[in-house]
Amino acid sequence: RLGGDEFAAVMEQPADPADALATAQRLMDALSQPYQLALQDHAEPVEVRVGASIGIALAPDHGTALDQILKNADMALSRAKNETRGTFSYFESGMDARAQSRRKTEIELRDAIERDVLRPHYQPLIDLSTGHITGFEALVRWPHPERGMIPPSEFIPIAEETGLISALGRSMLRQACNDAAKWPDEVRVAVNMSPLQFRVGNVLSLVMDVLKQSGLPASRLELEITETLVLEKSGQVLATLHALRALGVRISMDDFGTGYSSLSYLRSFPFDKIKVDKSFIQSVETSVHAAAIVKATLLLGRSLNIPVLAEGVETEPQRRLLAELGCDAMQGFLFARPMAASAFSRWLLDYSAL
Ligand code: C2E
Ligand code: MG
Ligand code: MG
Repeated sequence: RLGGDEFAAVMEQPADPADALATAQRLMDALSQPYQLALQDHAEPVEVRVGASIGIALAPDHGTALDQILKNADMALSRAKNETRGTFSYFESGMDARAQSRRKTEIELRDAIERDVLRPHYQPLIDLSTGHITGFEALVRWPHPERGMIPPSEFIPIAEETGLISALGRSMLRQACNDAAKWPDEVRVAVNMSPLQFRVGNVLSLVMDVLKQSGLPASRLELEITETLVLEKSGQVLATLHALRALGVRISMDDFGTGYSSLSYLRSFPFDKIKVDKSFIQSVETSVHAAAIVKATLLLGRSLNIPVLAEGVETEPQRRLLAELGCDAMQGFLFARPMAASAFSRWLLDYSAL
């Protein structure tokens, strides 16, 4: 036992790498047999099952020193856990390189946050029933000296794993509110919040502080949270959301339809907006399933009295179909790509002139 729920099994000189796999399978089969537990309050024994993930490293290919082999098996285990939970994975030489490149990104990201080089870009949210822009979503951008503009998908997960997300989120909120305070009065700003910010940081006092310092009225701030935010049992998160709401801040549910419990989240908090995930919009014309889900979400929004916005609208046919389905609020490359704050006033002027 290496510790906690981690164990190592050593095989002596498997004749073939496939033997290691067969042994892994045998371990998995044995472990996943149901266990009968006699519990005090239960008349009948209760059946429980456990799962396991296995990472495999082979000597001498993946190292000859004990430390090296254990470390590489551990890396393979991480992949087995993350990518295909409940299975096994071999170590591959690329894994080490990937882990190192992640580590490098982490160090550079820490530095970028300290030197305040991350910037929000802004993408308009449009109400097609009036043609008005209701707001802009702030999307973090990292201008990297060698790698160019790094997209958030490459560093938000790392920021979340390393705790850097708090500082990153604070900086984005501050910049977005400062920028928005200079915009026309009816234009709001939407800021993405990581679930982790709710867990570790004091979101409420941060928001109050930023609003005060920027002079932005609370009614012009929207916070977007994804449904991965563990709402169910966290009374504290719910209390924070309600308190933010009481200030006048709006709360949107982002990426609707991608999580496991979208519907139960809708019941636990009265969101101000539902943003249908772009994966559904992108196949709304080609997949009857996607179209049905979009339709149902619009219906759901209507009966709960929550406006529904379609994100990721790229083409005119998509826009037309969504409009036919009764969707008024949209966001996507068809209207505008996210743009730097400097390009922003120009764009707004041009748009209002249309
Ligand atoms: P999101 O909040 O769902 O943001 C929408 C994403 O869709 C943005 O990607 C945007 O550039 C992209 N997008 C907009 N219109 C279109 C379109 O027509 N087609 C396609 N293919 N994509 C479109 P981006 O900027 O790469 O951000 C990705 C995600 O990273 C965001 O998804 C959000 O979850 C996260 N993120 C961005 N900025 C922040 C931030 O400041 N804090 C936190 N915690 N997360 C952020
Ligand atoms: Mg968003
Ligand atoms: Mg989204």
